[in-house]
Amino acid sequence: MIIEEVAEKVYRLETPISGTDAVFAVYLIKESGGALIEPGPSAAVPSIREVIGQLEMKELTYIIPTHIHVDHAGGTGTLAQIFPDARVIVHPAGMKHVVDPSRLIESTKNALGPNFEDIFGSISPVPKSRIKTPDDGEIISLNSRDLQIIYAPGHAPHHIVIFDKRTKGLFCGEALGIPGGGNELIPLPAVAPPSFDQELYLETMEKLRKLGADILFYSHGGIGREPDTLISIAAENTRAIGDIILDALKRGEVVESIGRKVGQYTKSRFGLELSDFDQAMMVGAHALYFTKKGLV
Ligand SMILES: [Zn+2]
Repeated sequence: MIIEEVAEKVYRLETPISGTDAVFAVYLIKESGGALIEPGPSAAVPSIREVIGQLEMKELTYIIPTHIHVDHAGGTGTLAQIFPDARVIVHPAGMKHVVDPSRLIESTKNALGPNFEDIFGSISPVPKSRIKTPDDGEIISLNSRDLQIIYAPGHAPHHIVIFDKRTKGLFCGEALGIPGGGNELIPLPAVAPPSFDQELYLETMEKLRKLGADILFYSHGGIGREPDTLISIAAENTRAIGDIILDALKRGEVVESIGRKVGQYTKSRFGLELSDFDQAMMVGAHALYFTKKGLV
């Protein structure tokens, strides 16, 4: 388990989940009661408990998933039980699925397979009384430390990001791409069926660029120290990959061949190999989006 102080009182913990090689990063802010940003799947809960103990944090004031997908928020209900004083912060559009996760569980099965719980663990509900739904731009405080919650739709309609005014660090979830390329940080569009919206995704990137953040805290990657450049690469890749897929869909190509084209783009542009799963996810989520928009 790797735990590292990545900014003033901000700790980053990587929680490897056996059965998947994806990176899951959890962040803790050790200030007053403390905040946990990106609880991750419930399979990560034992590691989180251990680290909270190591950091000598007794309670949590806030548990803040950037969005409700299982790999970011699956453990929220379990953690809310363990830390009974913590408020759970979610976007108003995500709240009903946190209170009653039955539809979320169904759509997770569609996206990740019927046995997703074997890898990620189960999804427990959070009582409504424990949830706070902030307004766009609302500031919540930990001692004198201000955390601004900003709506960031695109990857999912209920995605939020958290801007730590103290460090100018942005907990960006998947709103600014998902970094491929290991330490090189090459953000690719973080797509997820059924709600990925490319237009909103690009708008959100420009909205977040204006915050002038100094650090990006990625959820599926490390720390980005050049936010402006990284946002530009994320936007460029979102446009380029969207164009490749739309073009090929219009020509009636099959998913596998379109996926290979996306793979060729990342390989020739960045030397980055995409797995078959990632290629298929990229094509599937875009195909749904372009169909909804009436473009194919
Ligand atoms: Zn997601």
